[in-house]
Amino acid sequence: MAEPRSVDQLLLILGEIVDLERIAGLLGWDQQTMMPAGGASSRARQRATVALIAHERFVSDEVGRLLDECEAATCDEDYSSFARSLVRVARRHYDKERLVPKELAAEMSAAASSAHEAWVLAREQSDFERFLPSLETGLELRRRYVACFDEETHPYDHLLDDYEPGVTTADVQAIFAELREGLVPLVRDIREHGAEIDASMVHRTYPVGDQVALVEQLLESIGFENDSWRLDTVVHPFALRVGMGDIRITTRYFEDYLPAGIFGAMHEFGHGLYEAGVSPEFDRTPLERLSSLGLHESQSRLWENLVGRSRAFWEFAFPTLQKTFPTQFSDIDAEQFYRAINRVEPSLIRVEADEVTYNLHIIMRFELELALVDGSLAPEDLPAAWNERVDDYLGIDVPDDAHGVLQDPHWCFGFGYFPTYALGNLVAAQLWRRVGGDIPELADQIGVGEFEPLRAWLVENVHARGSTLTLSEALDTVVGEPLAARPYLDYLADKFGAIYGLTPSATA
Ligand code: ZN
Repeated sequence: MAEPRSVDQLLLILGEIVDLERIAGLLGWDQQTMMPAGGASSRARQRATVALIAHERFVSDEVGRLLDECEAATCDEDYSSFARSLVRVARRHYDKERLVPKELAAEMSAAASSAHEAWVLAREQSDFERFLPSLETGLELRRRYVACFDEETHPYDHLLDDYEPGVTTADVQAIFAELREGLVPLVRDIREHGAEIDASMVHRTYPVGDQVALVEQLLESIGFENDSWRLDTVVHPFALRVGMGDIRITTRYFEDYLPAGIFGAMHEFGHGLYEAGVSPEFDRTPLERLSSLGLHESQSRLWENLVGRSRAFWEFAFPTLQKTFPTQFSDIDAEQFYRAINRVEPSLIRVEADEVTYNLHIIMRFELELALVDGSLAPEDLPAAWNERVDDYLGIDVPDDAHGVLQDPHWCFGFGYFPTYALGNLVAAQLWRRVGGDIPELADQIGVGEFEPLRAWLVENVHARGSTLTLSEALDTVVGEPLAARPYLDYLADKFGAIYGLTPSATA
C-alpha cells in the first residue's frame, strides 16, 4: 500500500486541478451555448486565468515530490490498482507539462486564436495566401514544442502522444496503408457497380422545432437522462463532462438536411455516455480525464453509425420519425430511409462524408500534416498537394480552397489529432464484433428499442475504466487483439455490399 499521506495529499491537489479544468470547460460551454458575442474577449481572459492557475498548481515542485513518494510506495501494487494507475497517469502529464515552458504554451494558445481569425477571412475569400503566415507560425511553434522532448523520437510522435498515448507515427502509417488499400477499391466498386440510391427525402423541409422534439425523444430512448444530461444547440457540436451527474451534449440542425441533427446528437451522446460511465471512484482525479481520443471517438462513432445508421435502429425508430414528420414521410418506408442515410458519395467536405469515404479524408489529412511537420512539404505547396490527393483518393476535383484545404479550422489549433478520428472508427468496429459475440441478440434488442444491455456492456468494459488503460492496453484487455483495420473493412464490405448489391468478389 502507498504511504497513505502522500496519496491523500496528491489526491487533494489533483482534485482541485480537475475542478479548475471543469470550470474552464463550463466557461467554454457557456461561451458556445449562451454567452452574447460581446463577451468573447473577457471570456478568453477568464479561461486563460483559470488554465494558468491549474497549470502552475500542477507543475509545482510539491506535486513532483508527492509523485516520487507515491511511485515508491505503489510500485508493488497491481498495474491496474487505483493508486498505481493514478500515479502513472498523473506522472505522464506532469513530465510533459514540466518540459514545456509556460511562455511557449501561452504563445501557442494566442497563435491559435489569431490563426482562427485569419482562417475565417481566408475561407470567406477562398484565399489560402491569407492563411499561410498563420500556418507557418503554427508549424514553427510546433517545432519548438517538439524540441522540448526527446530528440530521438519522430517529431510527429510527440504531437500524436498528446492525443493518443502509446500510439506511434509508424503504427498509424501501417494501419492507414491497409485501410487505404481496402477503401479505395470499395469506393470505386460502389461508384461503378452499385445500385442507385435515392436520398432526396433527407433534403425535404424539416422545421427545426420538430427536429429538436424528435432528437430529444430518440436520445431519451437510448439513455439520455433528464436529471443528469443537457442537450443544447451550437455551431460546432461537442460533449462535455462538467462533473459527476452533469453531462452536456450539443448538436446543430439544418432545416433542409435532416441527418445532421439526429446523427450529430447520437455522436455526442456516445461521447457523453463515455464521460458519464467513468467509475465514480475516479471522480476529481486524472483518471476521469479520458486521454485516448481514439477510444473516445470509438464511442461516438459506435452510437452514430453502428447503432444509429443500422437497419435495426430504424426498425425501432422509424415510426417516431414518421409521426414527427407525417407529410415528409408519407411516401417513404423504413428501408428507403435506411438506404438514404447510408448513401455513399465521394464529397469534398469531410464532416459531410459517409462511413465509407470518411476515413479517406482522414488518411489524406494525416499524410499532409505529417509531411508539413517533417518538412517534406512546404506550407505554400499545401493546396496543390491537397487537391492532388482528393483526386487520387476520392476521384473528384476541388473547385477552390474554401472547399479544399480551407474547409475547416483544425490546422489553427494543432497537429497530431486527425488520425484519432479514423482510429475511432476502427476501434468501434473491433468493439462491436466483441459486443456481438457477448450479446448475440443485440440486433433484436436494438430493433425493439432495448439499449440497456449494450450500455451496460460498454460501461463495464470501456467506460468504467476511465483512463487507467491506453488505447492498445484497452484493446488487448477487451477484445484480446491489437488495433486493426480488418474488422472495420469487413463491416463496411458486408453492410455496403448488401446496400449496393455488390457481389462478394467485387468487394474482396
Ligand atoms: Zn467526436
